[in-house]
Amino acid sequence: MKGQIYFDHAATTAVKPEVIAKMLPYFAVDYANPSSVYSISRTARHAVEESRETIAQCIGADKDEIYFTSGGTEADNWAIRGSAYANKNKGNHIITTEFEHHAVLHTCKQLEKEGFEVTYIKPDSEGIIHTSDIEKAITDKTILITIMFANNEIGTIQPIYEIGKLAKEKGILFHTDAVQAVGAVPINVKEMNIDMLSMSAHKFYGPKGIGALYVRKGVRPQVFMQGGAQEKNRRAGTENVPGIVGFAAALFDACMHTEENALKLGQMRDYLITEVMNKIPYVKLNGHISKRLPNNANFSFEFIEGEALLLSLDLEGIAASSGSACTSGSLDPSHVLLSIGLPHEIAHGSLRITLGDDNTYYQIDYLVEKLITIVDRLRKMSPLYHEN
Ligand SMILES: *Cc1c(COP(=O)(O)O)cnc(C)c1O
Repeated sequence: MKGQIYFDHAATTAVKPEVIAKMLPYFAVDYANPSSVYSISRTARHAVEESRETIAQCIGADKDEIYFTSGGTEADNWAIRGSAYANKNKGNHIITTEFEHHAVLHTCKQLEKEGFEVTYIKPDSEGIIHTSDIEKAITDKTILITIMFANNEIGTIQPIYEIGKLAKEKGILFHTDAVQAVGAVPINVKEMNIDMLSMSAHKFYGPKGIGALYVRKGVRPQVFMQGGAQEKNRRAGTENVPGIVGFAAALFDACMHTEENALKLGQMRDYLITEVMNKIPYVKLNGHISKRLPNNANFSFEFIEGEALLLSLDLEGIAASSGSACTSGSLDPSHVLLSIGLPHEIAHGSLRITLGDDNTYYQIDYLVEKLITIVDRLRKMSPLYHEN
């Protein structure tokens, strides 16, 4: 990433050097399979169990409620499909939202093909889901509510405590994709009545390809990775020991510093928002002004193509996003921006800036300076702009 200014921390983050150092011994020294019986496998087994404990503590769970997966996508798939299959005798109705990550949306779409019914709740224009809308959607066939903790494009934080309370009162399972929230905001699965929660290490300075599903004691999503006794017979496959160790080290660091990081990033984000809104005309901030992740800013610039903006920023050494990485390269505007009611042409001109540990105020000033000239240049080329 030499010479690049990185503003895409919602897509992934660099692994911290301290985290890499903790992972290294488990590649070639303490490399034994944790499931083996001989003494050298004990070190690996111990590292896995210690990591599980650390991760559990960070979200207020018990150690035996954490199941390692290959990442957030697998955790989402398992929670949703596993709960649907395990409860199909009770009902076939699932409630989710229009603006979930595709790991959730595509899984729900597939379940619809298999005979399940899914209600997709619409967020309000500021990107918040109303608990009353969920309550109205509940039927006697509802078996699962799956609602993301924080949105990956517009950063909005959902009323998880209220939703958990409602789900508990109605006796319905509640899963949350908390991939963007874990490590960034305080989470307590017990207080929030969360039955299942997905997380992924590479979103908080840990390695890629490792995540976990928290599953509350007594909840039993159907097993869907067969082939071994790992993770108490519920998720087969040899444990990714270095990944697990890196996951725990990164999360521990994030957990210990949640408040100070949120304060620091939030101030930097607010500075960015103020600068952009004051210095560039015809711009809108997407999402809620305060109920949002401390590191997220998402703007729509009228009369501009987001892809053109991204390419111009890239030429200046700035890495940002126009929405989810999955939709870049396609001409469809982001499903998240459409869900909050943006017209297609405004959604097309969007830019997501997600800040991280490595960003500075100097970099933000540089970004704003470049944005002013790029936006102006692109608008001058737009026939729509001259009409105004
Ligand atoms: C990144 C992300 C995922 C996918 O996690 P992976 O570990 O990359 O599979 C799922 N949900 C949200 C909200 C995300 O931001």
